[in-house]
Amino acid sequence: MAYIQFLGAAGTVTGSKHLINTGSESSGGGFQALIDCGMFQGPKEWRERNWQDTPISARQIDAVVLTHAHLDHCGWIPRLVKGGFRGPIYATPATIDLCGILLPDSGHLQEEDAAFYNKFKKSKHDPALPLYTLAEAQASLQYFRAVQFEETRQLCPEMSFRFVRAAHILGSSMVELTLIVNGQAHRLLFTGDIGRVRDRSTAPGKVVRSGPTEGETADVLVMESTYGNRQHPTVDPRPELASLIRRTVERGGSVIVPAFAVERTQKFLFMLKELMQSQQLPPIPVFCDSPMAIKAVEIFMKHTEEYSEDTRRLISQHGSPLEWPGFTFASTAEQSKTINGVKTPSIIVSSSGMVTGGRILHHLAQRLPDPKNTVIFIGFQAPGTRGFTIKSGASEVKIFGDVVPIRAQVTALEQFSDHADTPELLQWLRTFPTKPPATYLVHGEPAASSQLRNTIAKELGWNVQVAQWMQKVEVI
Ligand SMILES: [Zn+2]
Repeated sequence: MAYIQFLGAAGTVTGSKHLINTGSESSGGGFQALIDCGMFQGPKEWRERNWQDTPISARQIDAVVLTHAHLDHCGWIPRLVKGGFRGPIYATPATIDLCGILLPDSGHLQEEDAAFYNKFKKSKHDPALPLYTLAEAQASLQYFRAVQFEETRQLCPEMSFRFVRAAHILGSSMVELTLIVNGQAHRLLFTGDIGRVRDRSTAPGKVVRSGPTEGETADVLVMESTYGNRQHPTVDPRPELASLIRRTVERGGSVIVPAFAVERTQKFLFMLKELMQSQQLPPIPVFCDSPMAIKAVEIFMKHTEEYSEDTRRLISQHGSPLEWPGFTFASTAEQSKTINGVKTPSIIVSSSGMVTGGRILHHLAQRLPDPKNTVIFIGFQAPGTRGFTIKSGASEVKIFGDVVPIRAQVTALEQFSDHADTPELLQWLRTFPTKPPATYLVHGEPAASSQLRNTIAKELGWNVQVAQWMQKVEVI
């Protein structure tokens, strides 16, 4: 029996990791592939699962097929390789380029965190260890193999796959798996994260083209449900963004924007540029404090094939964001520290997007106590992260083990999401020519997944279940 086992992103939005076992004898007891190999983030209860081995040993896993370069989908790869995995990791060329910067950075951050906790003995674990190191992350990159969109790749005699566009971030894909059992083909579709359906006014500033591939078919659909109980606002965010920044500048404060280094930072910078060009914003200094975001801009500049029309126009007009006047990209730690000394109004965009680590911690520790400043969240904040705490209106937050009072204005703009919301997911599902016999919802908080299950069952009459962590489901 072929089966899927949900090893992550079931009951939560992180740790995406789905094992498919073909269950046949032809390849020595079944070919075993992981669709995504993400890291758990957020609440401790989930993060601790990063330290558990997979239920079958890493050596027995034959391949990884990766949907996109977000850490909650790829961040556990170095750990899998450390555990003995030696198979190919298939991904699109842009995903491979992005993993080339994201994974070593993740290893570096974990080493830094462990060293910090050991120095100040703030960890209950003695000594604190990194999940993997920068060198281990770098070593895992040798297993990546590029697969173009819509190119069929054979995994084993009975299973092949294709990447189709997910329109979530640069390089992002859905995985169409074809499994042949007793001469019959079965289609398994793993969506990874699904991007917005294109609408320039409600989801402006998209760097890569929007719209997931339509008209898909599946015998088994494994779909994300991050926004299964929510709808993105449908008003254009730009006037509100401009007004928030202007008001902060008027009171002499600075704007701090925690943003994922990949995609979200670039999208936000493009938007600031447009607002300044049209004089809706004063030309105040913009600091992009994330070495990874700089490298990501370079990767974006290389993958012109994925640009949206807006991106194409902006780049042809203004060139690379790295050369825009007034936009400073801090690469070194020294340059980052210099930003702390800037007392005049400025905009600081830094990562990590959920304030789980990175240079944003220093900026928030310094600027959260001052009511003149404004923190603008432009990304999803998973429960249990510092970002979630700050966004929820807490009066203080713990950073580097110290309690930091929150007196700055805290606000969020939800339109920046790169995830389809419920109406958009339904819109996409309606393009399926036939109902999939089985749909499993993953990558959602329990309330979001169960509400989406009910909505799909009611609106489309599909057979939908919410996947449970470690649950095995037969697919044929
Ligand atoms: Zn993602």
